[in-house]
Amino acid sequence: KSGFISIIGRPNVGKSTFLNRVIGQKIAIMSDKPQTTRNKVQGVLTTDQSQMVFIDTPGIHKPKHKLGDFMMKVAQNTLREVDVILFMVNASEPIGKGDRFILEMLEGNKTPVFLVINKIDLVHPDELLNIIDSYQSEFSFAEILPISAIQGNNVDRLLETIGKYL
Ligand code: GDP
Ligand code: MG
Repeated sequence: KSGFISIIGRPNVGKSTFLNRVIGQKIAIMSDKPQTTRNKVQGVLTTDQSQMVFIDTPGIHKPKHKLGDFMMKVAQNTLREVDVILFMVNASEPIGKGDRFILEMLEGNKTPVFLVINKIDLVHPDELLNIIDSYQSEFSFAEILPISAIQGNNVDRLLETIGKYL
C-alpha cells in the first residue's frame, strides 16, 4: 500500500511536531528549505506494510491573505489528488476563522478528511468532547482522532487508520 497524505491546519497546531515524530528529525529539517514545487514533500514513512508520502499544500495555510480564484483552484485540485487529508486543529483553542476557511475549501472534495485534534495533553476530556462537537457540526469527517504529537498519544493509531485508506 502507498499513498499521499496532505497535512493542513492553522499555524502552530503541531503539524511539524507530528511529522518529526512520525518521520524523524532529519527530514523535517530538510523540509524547512524553501521549495518551489506545487506539492512540497515533507517526509516519507516506509514500513513493511506501507509507504506514506506526507506533503504540504501551499495556498491553504495563509487564510489571512486573500487568495485569488486561481490559487484557490490550484490548492483545491491538489487536495483532490491526495489519498487522505489530515486537517489538524489545536484541542485547546476554539474553532476559528482560519479553520472555517480551510473547511470551506474542502467542501465538495471527495478525498477523505480526518479531523486530527492535537495537543490533547492540554485539555480536560470534557473540553475535548466539546471541541469534537463544534467541528463535527461544521463538516463531515471520515475519521476523528485526538492525539498528542508531543507525547505521542494515539499517533500509531492515526497511522494505522491512514493505512486503511491507502
Ligand atoms: P505547526 O506550525 O503546525 O507546524 O506547529 P509546530 O509543530 O511548529 O508546533 C507549534 C507549537 O506547539 C510548538 O511549540 C510545539 O512544541 C507545540 N506542540 C505541538 N504538538 C503539541 C502537543 O501535542 N502538545 C503540546 N502541549 N504542544 C504541542
Ligand atoms: Mg510547521
